[in-house]
Amino acid sequence: MPSEVVPCEVADFIIVGGGSAGAILANRLSEDPAVRVILVEAGGEAKSLLVQLPVGFTKLIGKPDSDWMYPLEPDASIGSGASFWTAGKMLGGGSSINGQVYIRGTRQDYDRWEEAGATGWGFRDVWPYFLRSENWQGAPSQAHGRLGPLPIATIRDVHPLCATFVAGCEALGLPFLPEHNGGEMEGVFFTQTNQRNGWRYSTERAFLRPVRGRPNLDVITHAEVETILFENGRAIGVSYRRGDALQTLGARREVIVSAGAVGSPALLMRSGIGPGEMLRQAGIPVFRDRAQVGRNLQEHCSTSQTRPVNRPTLNSQTGPLDMVRYLAKFLWNRSGPFGSPAVQTMALARTQTGLSEPDVQLHFFPLAFETGGSVEKGTEVSMSRDPAVTIGASVAHPASRGQVVLRSDRRLGVEHQLMSDPRDVATLVSAMKMIARLYATPAFSQIVRHDLAPPLPDTDAGWEELVRSRGAGVYHPVGTCRMGSQEDAVVDTALRVRGIDGLRVVDASVMPLLPSTNTNAPTMMIAEKAADLILA
Ligand SMILES: Cc1cc2nc3c(=O)[nH]c(=O)nc-3n(C[C@H](O)[C@H](O)[C@H](O)COP(=O)(O)OP(=O)(O)OC[C@H]3O[C@@H](n4cnc5c(N)ncnc54)[C@H](O)[C@@H]3O)c2cc1C
Repeated sequence: MPSEVVPCEVADFIIVGGGSAGAILANRLSEDPAVRVILVEAGGEAKSLLVQLPVGFTKLIGKPDSDWMYPLEPDASIGSGASFWTAGKMLGGGSSINGQVYIRGTRQDYDRWEEAGATGWGFRDVWPYFLRSENWQGAPSQAHGRLGPLPIATIRDVHPLCATFVAGCEALGLPFLPEHNGGEMEGVFFTQTNQRNGWRYSTERAFLRPVRGRPNLDVITHAEVETILFENGRAIGVSYRRGDALQTLGARREVIVSAGAVGSPALLMRSGIGPGEMLRQAGIPVFRDRAQVGRNLQEHCSTSQTRPVNRPTLNSQTGPLDMVRYLAKFLWNRSGPFGSPAVQTMALARTQTGLSEPDVQLHFFPLAFETGGSVEKGTEVSMSRDPAVTIGASVAHPASRGQVVLRSDRRLGVEHQLMSDPRDVATLVSAMKMIARLYATPAFSQIVRHDLAPPLPDTDAGWEELVRSRGAGVYHPVGTCRMGSQEDAVVDTALRVRGIDGLRVVDASVMPLLPSTNTNAPTMMIAEKAADLILA
């Protein structure tokens, strides 16, 4: 039993979760001084240097204060022993701990949403909302907005080996794209990033911090929402735990759930909205039997190949003197590895002829690393000291589906099933062969130590084993509160939870299908469009 129940405060909108989407909504909905907004966030503030400093995110992952570390059920489809799923737990959510790659996806990604039933979410519809957020730091461009709060920049300091990756891709026939965020993205390109002057700009920094002084906006941190409250089929508020106290908030107009692709379906289920049988087994009274809540979990399943090289890479330069040098470089002119997004060069490619659009995203790292982890130990990223480079590949449109479930003891579980569909494994096998061809191009041949490289498989079965053994996600979960015009979709195309008044979901969970590339920019776009839908 709660030790204290505090009387209810009331606002027009209660937003649950101040992450990539929630922080934007808090800003946009409180623009009108007559509208009162309360944002409730389970994590804390996001002002620590580790959040602002681009490289700092490596120290935030796997730490319970900043990472939800959602429990991951064993996944027989991959070899990884990872037992938790990382998600940002603080204001800014994922945007406070992510790799800061700003990328929107392709025109076809959104046209496919529309075909899948998300009427009004085709490329032409969503395009203005990407631009609305943006404060583009580069030369004027049709592809970018300049009047929004979120600084987007080209990367300040590119590692010299990125040029090798570009040359290798060009040798395979991929064009170099000076601009990739305009809807057409097949080719190789340098990443763009949500930074200003080398510092991270999360949605907390860009959208929330500047408006914290608004008298009609309250932000409550360290407050985990436990349930949504209902009356006569309408969401009327939430109850949340802060320390020992269970408190309630009332919503005159709407409760908006922006708790992320794991947190949002979990909250709906704990509030009685979800697969009826699952809820009954967990002892939760069924308010609405909605089979699709938590289903349709999509993630970019990925794999990688590392090669030893004959010149220094970031993992061969990690001694104390290197760290001092990197810090000095960052402090001097915000350049060097401490100020760089996680991936500086990428490509979108077709692994086979005959495909109508790219089927893989390639990520180039001028370093070699291994990841592993457990809930007890936290995620470890280990690096060998031998110079090496890594090229990762992720499936642009994965067919595998997982789910978020509530166990009978009400424990949350993420059933990953990352490579459960053989089509994804086949795509990754083709991608691995493509990466092997990349390493054989003249550009890479000058640097790769083929004498030290491990032997590659010579059968498809061997490739498949390699793909599965190195299989991993890349922190892009979506789809667990899928939007659509179909009856079984969790939310309609205005993001209202079907069959309940006064309740919406606005975050990555509503995406019906994964875009080809990273998910932060699409999530921010969803929040911008949702603000218009809500205020209309
Ligand atoms: C390590 C990492 C690296 C990534 N790198 C990139 C990248 O480089 N580029 C890119 O485009 N994308 C990247 N992503 C993905 C991107 O950040 C996410 O897609 C995006 O942040 C999702 O936004 P969201 O609003 O759906 O959820 P989130 O940003 O996760 O927000 C959910 C918020 O809700 C809060 N919350 C959850 N449950 C509750 C509750 N019950 N009560 C109150 N609050 C609650 C959480 O603490 C969080 O603040 C990365 C993600 C991670 C984790």
